[in-house]
Amino acid sequence: QEEITRRSQAMDKNDTSDLRKFSRQAYLQKRRDKKIDEIRDEILDHEYIFQDVKLTEAEEKEFRYKKKIYDLVKEHVESADDVAEYKMPEAYDMGDSVNQEKRFSVAMQRYKDPEARDKMNPFAEQEAWEEHQIGKSKLQFGSKDRKRSSDDYQYVFEDGIDFVKSSVIEGTQHEEDSDQEDIDEKDMLKRELQHVSLNQDERKTLPIYKFRDELLKAVEEYQVIVIVGETGSGKTTQIPQYLHEAGYTAKGKVACTQPRRVAAMSVAARVSQEMGVKLGHEVGYSIRFEDCTSEKTLIKYMTDGMLLREFLGEPDLASYSVVMVDEAHERTLSTDILFGLVKDISRFRPDLKLLISSATLDAEKFSDYFDSAPIFKIPGRRYPVEVHYTKAPEADYIDAAIVTVLQIHVTQPPGDILVFLTGQEEIETIDEILKHRTRGLGTKIAELLICPIYANLPTELQAKIFEPTPEGARKVVLATNIAETSLTIDGIKYVVDPGFCKIKSYNPRTGMESLLINPISKASANQRAGRSGRTGPGKCFRLYTSYNYMHDLEDNTVPEIQRTNLANVVLTLKSLGIHDLVNFDFMDPPPSEALLKALEQLFALSALNSRGELTKTGRRMAEFPLDPMLSKMIVASEKYKCSDEVISIASMLSVGNSIFYRPKDKQVHADNARLNFHTGNVGDHIALLNVYNSWKETDYSTQWCYENYIQVRSMKRARDIRDQLEGLLERVEIEISSNASDLDAIKKAITSGFFHHSSRLQKNGSYRTVKNPQTVLPRWVIYHELVLTTKEYMRQVTELKPDWLVEIAPHYYQLKD
Ligand code: ADP
Ligand code: MG
Repeated sequence: QEEITRRSQAMDKNDTSDLRKFSRQAYLQKRRDKKIDEIRDEILDHEYIFQDVKLTEAEEKEFRYKKKIYDLVKEHVESADDVAEYKMPEAYDMGDSVNQEKRFSVAMQRYKDPEARDKMNPFAEQEAWEEHQIGKSKLQFGSKDRKRSSDDYQYVFEDGIDFVKSSVIEGTQHEEDSDQEDIDEKDMLKRELQHVSLNQDERKTLPIYKFRDELLKAVEEYQVIVIVGETGSGKTTQIPQYLHEAGYTAKGKVACTQPRRVAAMSVAARVSQEMGVKLGHEVGYSIRFEDCTSEKTLIKYMTDGMLLREFLGEPDLASYSVVMVDEAHERTLSTDILFGLVKDISRFRPDLKLLISSATLDAEKFSDYFDSAPIFKIPGRRYPVEVHYTKAPEADYIDAAIVTVLQIHVTQPPGDILVFLTGQEEIETIDEILKHRTRGLGTKIAELLICPIYANLPTELQAKIFEPTPEGARKVVLATNIAETSLTIDGIKYVVDPGFCKIKSYNPRTGMESLLINPISKASANQRAGRSGRTGPGKCFRLYTSYNYMHDLEDNTVPEIQRTNLANVVLTLKSLGIHDLVNFDFMDPPPSEALLKALEQLFALSALNSRGELTKTGRRMAEFPLDPMLSKMIVASEKYKCSDEVISIASMLSVGNSIFYRPKDKQVHADNARLNFHTGNVGDHIALLNVYNSWKETDYSTQWCYENYIQVRSMKRARDIRDQLEGLLERVEIEISSNASDLDAIKKAITSGFFHHSSRLQKNGSYRTVKNPQTVLPRWVIYHELVLTTKEYMRQVTELKPDWLVEIAPHYYQLKD
């Protein structure tokens, strides 16, 4: 009933975004209820019939009802939809010389003013250089009209998705462009070559190659440079190599930061191949809990968070000669903090070179922040991209994405497909459904190779997405946001963009952090579209209407620093000796409310004293690359003499939600196996400990994992993390001590870190977080995290005695009555 009311209200208002949000919520709700099978079947049967599956009467009724509502909405929205007014996003208007100039740095404008130029004499050469650059790019990217007409989009499915072609994002012309077939051939040849050997010639085909010498000259001349270039132009893989070839690595390491783990690993692997060295030797990577570098390492790819941590051990980054902050446009929390820190050290380390590189065109902001640093533009290489919107909002983007992929596969000329999804779970679902559906078709259609890519995917499988597609087959890459700018996959001609991504958000008032699925920004949508036009003209299928694009999407994503819990960063900055956080040189300062909340939380955890200074506990906590609550739990384990158990629990929690698995046909077995670890109703934390210890007792047996429905990969990762935490315990001089029989002691240590996450059972059966424990006691629990879908759910829950709260955090809780 509620569903109907909401839907009809949404229809009344013609509020399509609400409708989409709502259908997502319904979808998530279902997922949570572990009705994956149901959803899958529903999608299989719903409208697009490849198989003849018999429905029960109830199901059929439900579908008929759903279809009716769906059609109603469709009709309603179609009539209101206003497609014609769509304007091309300016950022793609590459051929226009006015815009071309506008995009050049603000600094450049300044140089044009003769007075200002006199004052800044050293820039006279800079001007000449930039002028030269402009000339070059104009030459190459003249404003010829490259608009291409295309066949109308066809579909073979009876009930396929209706797309409207709304715009063509113009490409940039370049010489090789003239003969498309030629390019395709060259490209295929190139890909074959790549498979056999990675010779140096291939590096020379990248757009950045032409600018190698100029770039090196600029690096020599200026301490800080902002580099802007289209994704795939070779910034990440080539620039560190150029610097190495030019001798910078003789003076120190070259660091290149990435916002994502997978990108750091994958790019390092690629570069080590190109240089013909073993990964971890001259070229290595460093990500949290995994250091693949050695004494020999000269080029180090790392997550931005890892470089941030390196400041703790080496405040002036003395062992580095160059720091390249890559993917700066992503504006992750760590990148933003890095900006402030590297800017600071560049003042007293004039020999340290800083490169800030970004895939988007709004480089002026970076330039301004770094005292008008020059902007180096690598003219991109892009073919026109046709953008198609759905005529009506899609009720379920998972469903729509699957149908669209199949439609493309059946109706469109060769070329690989890239689908943007929000996370591993979704990717796995679609992977499974696509496999299922294409299996039934046998030889009727060409082979469809499905390649998932997300952070937790094993490295061997990650490499698969870069392998050339065999003749006659088509590859479909199911990716998270990582494929938006961090990774470039050659051969993509079609992009399917549902318009969503997972975004972390934080409410400083409640202190609640959530990772929610949100609409992307216009900037993201355009980056995504651009991925299809790299090696030839492309097509982008947006699973939303042009109305949605224009009215519901923000222009840009809000920088992470403005929507996240800052406790971790504040702790790191404090341990770097930066006390005055309010006056820290932030590019975009965080809300002061969030800063205060972070200080308050760290005070509650006894990491800071009442004057806001770091305590001994705080200093120890900062050593752990973990959330402050987890590090506090570990530091507190000293007092309860159970550090051995607590670091096992911390490692298991750090692995995330991927310890147990439930195969469809053996769910009962899996659930029973899982219950074994809960014997005595010990709670989720102790159950995790039981899993770890049982595995250890079997001498880390893989067989044991299979028998207990536990993912061996996750367990191995937990063991690695545990090893490192053990090393860190030693560093902060906490003895390893075991207290396995005293579960209360272990739970108290957990509570010391997580008392903010305590919760009390309500009469209506739900829980509520508490500030003041009452003396009349319902059941109390402590949880590891909250997951927000349509409601808030606690994940990893353990029962707690309320008087512990007062015992452990007397400064935070007072007893009432
Ligand atoms: P940018 O950083 O400017 O986006 P990259 O340096 O990442 O560009 O990519 C340059 C080229 O290297 C692209 O054509 C991409 O396909 C290729 N490449 C990058 N990483 C890999 C990899 N792991 N395997 C195969 N090719 C790769
Ligand atoms: Mg890159």
